[in-house]
Amino acid sequence: MIKRIVYLFLLLPFAVYAENNNSVPYVNKLPQPGTVALTFDDGPNPVYTRQILAILKKYNIKATFFEVGENAKRFPDVVREIHAQGHVIASHSMTHPMLTKISEAQLQTEVAEPSQIIYGIIGEKPKCLRYPFGASNSHVRDVIREHGMMPVPMGFNSFDYDRPGVQKIIGWVLKNAYSRQVILMHDGYDKREQTVAALPTIIEGIKKKGLGFSTICG
Ligand SMILES: [Zn+2]
Repeated sequence: MIKRIVYLFLLLPFAVYAENNNSVPYVNKLPQPGTVALTFDDGPNPVYTRQILAILKKYNIKATFFEVGENAKRFPDVVREIHAQGHVIASHSMTHPMLTKISEAQLQTEVAEPSQIIYGIIGEKPKCLRYPFGASNSHVRDVIREHGMMPVPMGFNSFDYDRPGVQKIIGWVLKNAYSRQVILMHDGYDKREQTVAALPTIIEGIKKKGLGFSTICG
Protein backbone atom coordinates (compact mmCIF):
# COMPACT_ATOMS: atom_id res chain seq x y z
CA MET A 1 0.00 0.00 0.00
CA ILE A 2 2.69 2.51 1.07
CA LYS A 3 4.75 1.49 -1.92
CA ARG A 4 1.80 2.30 -4.14
CA ILE A 5 1.33 5.77 -2.62
CA VAL A 6 5.01 6.62 -3.04
CA TYR A 7 4.80 5.52 -6.63
CA LEU A 8 1.81 7.79 -7.19
CA PHE A 9 3.72 10.82 -5.87
CA LEU A 10 6.67 10.03 -8.07
CA LEU A 11 4.38 10.05 -11.09
CA LEU A 12 2.56 13.24 -10.16
CA PRO A 13 5.08 15.81 -11.51
CA PHE A 14 5.09 14.05 -14.88
CA ALA A 15 1.30 14.11 -15.10
CA VAL A 16 1.29 17.85 -14.39
CA TYR A 17 4.06 18.44 -16.91
CA ALA A 18 2.15 16.52 -19.59
CA GLU A 19 -0.94 18.67 -19.12
CA ASN A 20 1.06 21.90 -19.29
CA ASN A 21 2.85 20.97 -22.47
CA ASN A 22 1.37 23.46 -24.94
CA SER A 23 2.36 21.66 -28.11
CA VAL A 24 0.15 18.66 -27.37
CA PRO A 25 -3.57 19.38 -27.17
CA TYR A 26 -5.37 18.00 -24.15
CA VAL A 27 -7.65 15.25 -25.37
CA ASN A 28 -9.50 12.35 -23.85
CA LYS A 29 -7.68 9.12 -24.47
CA LEU A 30 -10.43 7.28 -22.64
CA PRO A 31 -14.21 7.47 -23.09
CA GLN A 32 -16.42 9.03 -20.40
CA PRO A 33 -17.53 6.85 -17.43
CA GLY A 34 -20.54 4.75 -18.35
CA THR A 35 -19.60 4.73 -22.03
CA VAL A 36 -17.38 2.95 -24.51
CA ALA A 37 -15.57 4.48 -27.48
CA LEU A 38 -15.92 2.90 -30.90
CA THR A 39 -12.74 3.34 -32.94
CA PHE A 40 -12.08 2.33 -36.53
CA ASP A 41 -8.53 1.91 -37.87
CA ASP A 42 -6.84 1.58 -41.28
CA GLY A 43 -9.37 3.47 -43.42
CA PRO A 44 -10.82 5.36 -45.03
CA ASN A 45 -12.33 2.95 -47.53
CA PRO A 46 -15.05 4.07 -49.95
CA VAL A 47 -17.15 0.93 -49.41
CA TYR A 48 -16.82 -0.12 -45.78
CA THR A 49 -16.33 3.29 -44.18
CA ARG A 50 -19.53 4.53 -45.82
CA GLN A 51 -21.47 1.46 -44.63
CA ILE A 52 -20.18 2.03 -41.10
CA LEU A 53 -21.10 5.73 -41.29
CA ALA A 54 -24.66 4.79 -42.25
CA ILE A 55 -24.97 2.47 -39.23
CA LEU A 56 -23.52 5.07 -36.83
CA LYS A 57 -25.93 7.66 -38.23
CA LYS A 58 -28.91 5.36 -37.71
CA TYR A 59 -27.99 4.93 -34.02
CA ASN A 60 -26.85 8.55 -33.65
CA ILE A 61 -23.43 7.51 -32.34
CA LYS A 62 -20.15 9.33 -32.87
CA ALA A 63 -16.91 7.38 -33.31
CA THR A 64 -13.19 8.01 -33.85
CA PHE A 65 -11.53 7.07 -37.14
CA PHE A 66 -7.76 6.51 -37.03
CA GLU A 67 -6.88 6.98 -40.66
CA VAL A 68 -3.85 5.87 -42.62
CA GLY A 69 -2.44 8.90 -44.47
CA GLU A 70 -2.08 7.19 -47.84
CA ASN A 71 -5.74 6.08 -47.69
CA ALA A 72 -6.90 9.56 -46.67
CA LYS A 73 -4.97 10.97 -49.63
CA ARG A 74 -6.61 8.46 -51.97
CA PHE A 75 -10.16 8.92 -50.69
CA PRO A 76 -10.49 12.56 -49.54
CA ASP A 77 -14.26 12.54 -50.16
CA VAL A 78 -14.70 9.79 -47.57
CA VAL A 79 -12.60 11.79 -45.09
CA ARG A 80 -14.87 14.80 -45.67
CA GLU A 81 -17.98 12.65 -45.11
CA ILE A 82 -16.67 11.28 -41.81
CA HIS A 83 -15.89 14.81 -40.64
CA ALA A 84 -19.19 16.27 -41.88
CA GLN A 85 -21.10 13.66 -39.87
CA GLY A 86 -19.44 14.82 -36.66
CA HIS A 87 -16.98 11.98 -36.08
CA VAL A 88 -13.41 12.44 -34.91
CA ILE A 89 -10.59 11.97 -37.40
CA ALA A 90 -7.22 10.98 -35.95
CA SER A 91 -3.98 9.67 -37.43
CA HIS A 92 -2.73 6.11 -37.79
CA SER A 93 0.58 6.98 -39.59
CA MET A 94 1.21 7.41 -43.32
CA THR A 95 1.75 3.82 -44.54
CA HIS A 96 1.12 1.69 -41.43
CA PRO A 97 4.66 0.48 -40.62
CA MET A 98 5.98 -0.50 -37.21
CA LEU A 99 7.18 2.91 -36.09
CA THR A 100 9.81 1.25 -33.91
CA LYS A 101 11.46 -0.45 -36.91
CA ILE A 102 12.06 2.44 -39.33
CA SER A 103 14.74 5.12 -39.78
CA GLU A 104 14.53 8.49 -38.07
CA ALA A 105 13.75 10.20 -41.39
CA GLN A 106 10.97 7.72 -42.14
CA LEU A 107 9.57 8.14 -38.63
CA GLN A 108 9.36 11.91 -39.12
CA THR A 109 7.49 11.42 -42.43
CA GLU A 110 5.14 8.77 -41.03
CA VAL A 111 4.14 11.10 -38.20
CA ALA A 112 4.10 14.48 -40.00
CA GLU A 113 2.59 13.71 -43.39
CA PRO A 114 -0.88 12.38 -42.45
CA SER A 115 -1.48 15.48 -40.32
CA GLN A 116 -0.84 17.72 -43.33
CA ILE A 117 -3.01 15.58 -45.60
CA ILE A 118 -5.91 15.53 -43.15
CA TYR A 119 -5.53 19.28 -42.56
CA GLY A 120 -5.63 19.85 -46.33
CA ILE A 121 -8.93 17.94 -46.56
CA ILE A 122 -10.91 19.05 -43.49
CA GLY A 123 -8.99 22.12 -42.26
CA GLU A 124 -8.25 20.51 -38.88
CA LYS A 125 -5.20 18.62 -37.69
CA PRO A 126 -5.61 15.29 -35.91
CA LYS A 127 -5.03 15.48 -32.16
CA CYS A 128 -3.90 11.88 -31.70
CA LEU A 129 -1.81 9.30 -33.50
CA ARG A 130 -2.45 5.66 -32.76
CA TYR A 131 0.78 3.79 -33.53
CA PRO A 132 0.24 0.77 -35.84
CA PHE A 133 0.42 -2.73 -34.31
CA GLY A 134 0.53 -1.12 -30.86
CA ALA A 135 4.28 -0.75 -31.45
CA SER A 136 5.95 2.21 -29.78
CA ASN A 137 8.82 3.21 -27.54
CA SER A 138 9.59 6.42 -25.66
CA HIS A 139 11.29 7.98 -28.72
CA VAL A 140 8.36 7.21 -31.01
CA ARG A 141 5.95 8.69 -28.48
CA ASP A 142 8.18 11.79 -28.09
CA VAL A 143 8.21 12.35 -31.86
CA ILE A 144 4.41 12.06 -31.97
CA ARG A 145 4.16 14.68 -29.18
CA GLU A 146 6.69 16.93 -30.95
CA HIS A 147 4.29 16.97 -33.89
CA GLY A 148 1.50 18.18 -31.62
CA MET A 149 -0.36 14.90 -31.17
CA MET A 150 -1.10 12.59 -28.29
CA PRO A 151 0.23 9.03 -28.77
CA VAL A 152 -2.59 6.49 -28.44
CA PRO A 153 -2.23 2.73 -27.90
CA MET A 154 -4.32 0.00 -29.47
CA GLY A 155 -7.81 -0.36 -28.08
CA PHE A 156 -9.50 -3.59 -27.02
CA ASN A 157 -8.86 -5.83 -30.00
CA SER A 158 -12.03 -7.08 -31.67
CA PHE A 159 -9.87 -9.21 -34.01
CA ASP A 160 -12.34 -8.29 -36.75
CA TYR A 161 -9.42 -8.17 -39.23
CA ASP A 162 -9.06 -11.96 -38.90
CA ARG A 163 -12.62 -12.20 -40.24
CA PRO A 164 -13.48 -15.04 -37.82
CA GLY A 165 -17.23 -14.82 -38.55
CA VAL A 166 -19.79 -12.20 -37.61
CA GLN A 167 -21.09 -14.05 -34.51
CA LYS A 168 -17.57 -14.50 -33.14
CA ILE A 169 -16.81 -10.79 -33.45
CA ILE A 170 -20.11 -9.89 -31.76
CA GLY A 171 -19.64 -12.41 -28.94
CA TRP A 172 -16.04 -11.40 -28.23
CA VAL A 173 -16.75 -7.66 -28.13
CA LEU A 174 -19.94 -7.89 -26.07
CA LYS A 175 -18.41 -10.31 -23.57
CA ASN A 176 -15.65 -7.79 -22.91
CA ALA A 177 -17.46 -4.46 -23.18
CA TYR A 178 -17.28 -2.33 -20.02
CA SER A 179 -17.28 1.31 -18.96
CA ARG A 180 -14.41 3.41 -20.41
CA GLN A 181 -13.32 0.74 -22.86
CA VAL A 182 -11.86 1.74 -26.20
CA ILE A 183 -13.03 -0.80 -28.78
CA LEU A 184 -10.81 -1.32 -31.82
CA MET A 185 -12.38 -2.30 -35.14
CA HIS A 186 -11.29 -1.80 -38.73
CA ASP A 187 -12.86 -0.04 -41.72
CA GLY A 188 -9.97 -0.24 -44.16
CA TYR A 189 -7.23 -2.05 -46.06
CA ASP A 190 -9.01 -5.39 -46.49
CA LYS A 191 -12.54 -6.71 -46.76
CA ARG A 192 -14.48 -5.51 -43.72
CA GLU A 193 -17.91 -6.94 -44.49
CA GLN A 194 -17.92 -8.89 -41.20
CA THR A 195 -17.21 -5.72 -39.21
CA VAL A 196 -20.08 -3.98 -40.98
CA ALA A 197 -22.42 -6.94 -40.39
CA ALA A 198 -21.45 -7.20 -36.70
CA LEU A 199 -21.71 -3.51 -35.85
CA PRO A 200 -25.50 -3.07 -35.36
CA THR A 201 -25.71 -6.04 -32.95
CA ILE A 202 -22.60 -4.83 -31.12
CA ILE A 203 -24.15 -1.38 -30.68
CA GLU A 204 -27.45 -2.82 -29.48
CA GLY A 205 -25.70 -5.22 -27.10
CA ILE A 206 -23.62 -2.42 -25.57
CA LYS A 207 -26.78 -0.36 -25.05
CA LYS A 208 -28.43 -3.37 -23.39
CA LYS A 209 -25.52 -3.49 -20.96
CA GLY A 210 -26.51 0.03 -19.93
CA LEU A 211 -23.50 1.65 -21.56
CA GLY A 212 -23.44 4.69 -23.81
CA PHE A 213 -20.94 5.93 -26.37
CA SER A 214 -18.42 8.76 -26.37
CA THR A 215 -15.44 9.64 -28.52
CA ILE A 216 -11.73 9.86 -27.83
CA CYS A 217 -9.24 12.28 -29.39
CA GLY A 218 -11.93 14.85 -30.29
ZN1 LIG B 1 -3.87 -0.44 -38.05
